[in-house]
Amino acid sequence: MARWAHTMPTMAVLLLSATMQPLNVISKRRLLILLDKERIALLDEVAEREAEAALRERRLPRGIVLARLLRAVHVPRRTLRPNRRNLLLRDDMTCQYCGVGGPASELTIDHVVPVSRGGAASTWENQVVACRRCNGRKANSHPEEVGLRLRRRPGPLTQEFSHILFLRHPELKQAYDALVA
Ligand SMILES: [Zn+2]
Repeated sequence: MARWAHTMPTMAVLLLSATMQPLNVISKRRLLILLDKERIALLDEVAEREAEAALRERRLPRGIVLARLLRAVHVPRRTLRPNRRNLLLRDDMTCQYCGVGGPASELTIDHVVPVSRGGAASTWENQVVACRRCNGRKANSHPEEVGLRLRRRPGPLTQEFSHILFLRHPELKQAYDALVA
């Protein structure tokens, strides 16, 4: 499984549990490895044939978006990290001071208590999404020093993992919804 032709853009594949619950998003390369080890099944014959051809021809398969694990596996509870992407999801792409929403490119991550003044650098509680304007106004101050108030108390992102998968991969949600409908 060493070398693959890179002629196609790699679209993601949604991995389902044996009971059809969304588990994770994997690459097509990972899909082929799992298929090769007979760990997963594809959900229709067309996908099955395409995957077999891809394995034979040592290329990535086209058009497969769903795959199912053959055995029940224990899925450890995932702890989400407060990175930029997850903070944007938690705060609904909205400035937590003034409420303005925006494309991610217009939004920054603000440390509520500035790191320079003893605030934690990477916790869920001390980081919020802020627009450039509010972040600029806040600079190295505590929010109340410059008349800013948080619209809600920041906490860890607790949404179900599958929900987050689908927010990141709307095309997979479509395929999944069509399957379980
Ligand atoms: Zn703002």
